[in-house]
Amino acid sequence: MTDLTLIDSHAHLDFKSFQPDLGDILERARAAGVEQIVTIGASDGFESNPRALALAEAHPHIFAALGIHPHDASVASEEVIAAVRALALDHPKVVAIGETGLDYHYNNSTPEAQRAAFRRFIQVALELDKPLVVHTREAERDTIDILTSEGGRGCGGIIHCFSGTAWMAEQALALGFYISFSGIVTFKTAVEIHEVARSTPLDRLLVETDAPFLAPIPHRGKRNEPAYVAHTLRFIAALRGMDPADLSRITTANTRRLLKLPTP
Ligand SMILES: [Zn+2]
Ligand SMILES: [Zn+2]
Repeated sequence: MTDLTLIDSHAHLDFKSFQPDLGDILERARAAGVEQIVTIGASDGFESNPRALALAEAHPHIFAALGIHPHDASVASEEVIAAVRALALDHPKVVAIGETGLDYHYNNSTPEAQRAAFRRFIQVALELDKPLVVHTREAERDTIDILTSEGGRGCGGIIHCFSGTAWMAEQALALGFYISFSGIVTFKTAVEIHEVARSTPLDRLLVETDAPFLAPIPHRGKRNEPAYVAHTLRFIAALRGMDPADLSRITTANTRRLLKLPTP
């Protein structure tokens, strides 16, 4: 048995590669100390949202965040945004809006479409009074500018899979956001991310897998799964000279507080 108490604050459980053995994956997660999982309904356009919601409805310990990924921002018409909003409205298992944000690395959707969708989802989060799950890559200045101008401080949320600069972390923390670290933090070359993981205030620190992507060491390059969030937690605990069990209780309490998750 493990000494850890964990929440995977960001996984894409509706992903195709999980379908053959999802039961085993959930069992391994429990054995690793993962008590709750937030599955993200933005894996693949709109259709991922009802799939994420179905998983959350089927499993008491799974919760959903609903949105449209910045990669798919070109499909985020008013109708689609209204449909996401309708699924999230008053649903007890929908704990956040997202992931949304800006990704200028791939530009699968134009930057203009990404910015427009991001603004709209901030408005939805404010209106539904739910925190925001923000994806940002090579778009730090615009991400902070839009969060600031749209009143993102009012809903708060998570900078997920943090892979940015110390500047980005500082700005996000000043807006009241939490910083969530994925397996990327375990990569040796991620020196600036190590620095941020050391200096982020303990009461704003979360952990996630972003499974099936970005598996932490020692599983790098393989399919990621929620159980592996334990490696990320242990890595950050070592960086900070902390007992992993203590740190896991803190990150779990942070996630529950922000997302208003029940204590199982
Ligand atoms: Zn993301
Ligand atoms: Zn994601």
